[in-house]
Amino acid sequence: MADDVTYMREAIGQAEKAQELNEVPIGAVIVYQDEVIASGFNVRETSQTTLSHAEVMAIANANRQIGSWRLEECTLYVTLEPCPMCAGAIVQSRIKRVVFGAPDPKAGCAGTLMNLLEDERFNHQTGVSGGVLQAECSALLTHFFRDLRERKKK
Ligand SMILES: [Zn+2]
Repeated sequence: MADDVTYMREAIGQAEKAQELNEVPIGAVIVYQDEVIASGFNVRETSQTTLSHAEVMAIANANRQIGSWRLEECTLYVTLEPCPMCAGAIVQSRIKRVVFGAPDPKAGCAGTLMNLLEDERFNHQTGVSGGVLQAECSALLTHFFRDLRERKKK
């Protein structure tokens, strides 16, 4: 979908904000009725909070924005496949659909290690599309970790 690419670019913009803070560059936006209503990026180091992944930050902002914990008609775009914590928060928030960029072989719970989002044993399922702007999303992370290793060497 053309729109998926457009919104993923906005999620990448959020990831770049994380990078400016020397945080692992992961960004997310939440779309409701063709409009970005909330965004978030990883600030785990800055905040020293375990919960401050991009998706959780974006969900908290969306809750404030629409004044409800239910995000039933919303789509979440995130540059990296959600981890178990974020996939859990996504199911709890009843988000309709998740679109991610790069798969995460170490924590991905939207189809890589497991598919928590579409498991029919839960009371809500969230649709998943992966691999949107995957190359760009992966490159952000690869460059970040390469730079980090180089800085550590010096
Ligand atoms: Zn997460």
